[in-house]
Amino acid sequence: MKDLRDKLQIVGDDILSVSERYQREQNSVQLLAVSKRHEASVIREAFACGQTAFGENYAQEMLEKAKQLSDLAIEWHFIGPLQSNKTRPIAAVADWVHTVDRLKIAKRLSDQRPDDLPPLSLCLQVNISAEASKSGVLPHEVFALAKEVALLPNIKLRGLMAIPKTETDFNKQREIFVKLRGLQEDLIKKGMTQLDTLSMGMSTDMPAAIAEGATIVRIGTAIFGQREIK
Ligand SMILES: *Cc1c(COP(=O)(O)O)cnc(C)c1O
Repeated sequence: MKDLRDKLQIVGDDILSVSERYQREQNSVQLLAVSKRHEASVIREAFACGQTAFGENYAQEMLEKAKQLSDLAIEWHFIGPLQSNKTRPIAAVADWVHTVDRLKIAKRLSDQRPDDLPPLSLCLQVNISAEASKSGVLPHEVFALAKEVALLPNIKLRGLMAIPKTETDFNKQREIFVKLRGLQEDLIKKGMTQLDTLSMGMSTDMPAAIAEGATIVRIGTAIFGQREIK
């Protein structure tokens, strides 16, 4: 417990000091604690330390944890690959989905969002390093997809997300993140002024992401250590 509290504190302090270094507005970077493959009890501990937003990659795992932790006001973010046969339960449980790269998935999430819940916050995943094997919409296709998704009634399009290829050099990390930021700025210029989210940066590239305007950083290992389950 002490250990987890310390790590949350260290990551939180890191986010603050990097934000200051790059003159980011106060409180403009949110920490998403990526709890995939850690037990629900660990999430409960982190919540008791004040962390409220958690990210999960596997639909079934998120659903089970949400059930076990239904007494807590957790903000659930789905950040894994999403197949169409899993959209219904995700639409019922998630507050955010970061990984939409097809209109079909966005439509299903909108159709299946329960009426008593607010619109689902959604980010489009961009294949920013343009790797053939990775998921994500290609940069030149983002605007067309965003236009369609923004029209869906039970979806609130919030911005863009990327998982760049692993890169250890800080300046090279920045070069990739600046591309995502540029795409977002382009969408805003074209009239999508509601966009307020750049979901980018993980344990190893968080400072570069914040330098380039990340508003949500997705941190797993630096908080929870090596993943346990499976
Ligand atoms: C696992 C994961 C993270 C967290 O990665 P760490 O390196 O453990 O911080 C962030 N984003 C996505 C999409 C992930 O799958």
